[in-house]
Amino acid sequence: FSINSSELELNEELGRGNYGTVKKVIHKPTNVPMAMKEIRLELDQSRLNAIIMELEILHKASEKSEYIVEFHGAFFSESCVYYCMEYMDAGSLDKLVNYELGEVVQIVPGVNDEALTWKGVPEEVLARVATSVVKGLKFLKDELEVIHRDVKPTNVLINKKGQVKLCDFGVSGQLEKSLAKTSIGCQSYMAPERIRSESEGQAPSTYTVSSDVWSVGLSLIEIAIGRYPFPPEVYTNALAQLQAIVSDDPPELPDRYSEVARHWVARCLVKSPADRAGYAELLEHEFVKADESREVDMASWVSEALSFRDAKMRVRTVSKSMSAPPTA
Ligand code: ATP
Ligand code: MG
Repeated sequence: FSINSSELELNEELGRGNYGTVKKVIHKPTNVPMAMKEIRLELDQSRLNAIIMELEILHKASEKSEYIVEFHGAFFSESCVYYCMEYMDAGSLDKLVNYELGEVVQIVPGVNDEALTWKGVPEEVLARVATSVVKGLKFLKDELEVIHRDVKPTNVLINKKGQVKLCDFGVSGQLEKSLAKTSIGCQSYMAPERIRSESEGQAPSTYTVSSDVWSVGLSLIEIAIGRYPFPPEVYTNALAQLQAIVSDDPPELPDRYSEVARHWVARCLVKSPADRAGYAELLEHEFVKADESREVDMASWVSEALSFRDAKMRVRTVSKSMSAPPTA
């Protein structure tokens, strides 16, 4: 369980969040690639011990569900916790699907041999993502009595085998309390009732499973359309954006998806938490049942999506370097 920092070889940065950075590392003794998350903390020794105990529970539990990223270990150094988890080699879903449907990457000599078109997320893939996320959340709730609290596309990871797994769930209440949050995101996945109670200054302990269900619905729409469903450019400020989540009709899945899919998402995005679907209803729904009864070639879809992303990234790099003024 315990990992020593000297056993790790640091590789590239995978991303950056509110609490720190995530880097790819290789655990040298075993040659296992891992994702190492650095979390800045303000804490004392007793809290540190409490965190370690909680992380040990997490470690044991994470081996039991295929929908939860595996936890490899953690260590402390200076005022940071370094948390090592399963490396998901296709990253988080937000960065895999953030394109316009029909977007084309033209041929650039030496970069891509054929023009690639972004075909979006087919219903079968979306259904597999939805099913995996809900099964992961239900596992956390039933087995660990944990509510995720931070469901969003950056916390839904995928690998080249096509497995979809959740990360960053609030298993460690102690860790949560010690977080030194540096900024507040401009994209909220909070349910309307959470936004309301937060603005009224209520304790976050009122959080329930159904708030996570809202976040699932919103995340699925984002994954389907390739962008956050309440785009910041529409609202004059962050407050207006939050107000829209509370007051406007909830967003819907586009009509290129089936009625069944649209209904499932709509059941997540019911504004009143009492009327919103629970995990049992979502898992009994035809959208999930259909997913369970068919084979989905997730690996091929991931591979196509990665090709598109790579081509697009390299084309951008090439055109940037071409437009840069020549250096002497
Ligand atoms: P927040 O800080 O609000 O949780 P976030 O989820 O984007 O936002 P991090 O959790 O710090 O921030 O993660 C940063 C990025 O690192 C993620 O967006 C994701 O793309 C990438 N990442 C995180 N964990 C892994 C992992 N296990 N394997 C591969 N990539 C990962
Ligand atoms: Mg995260």
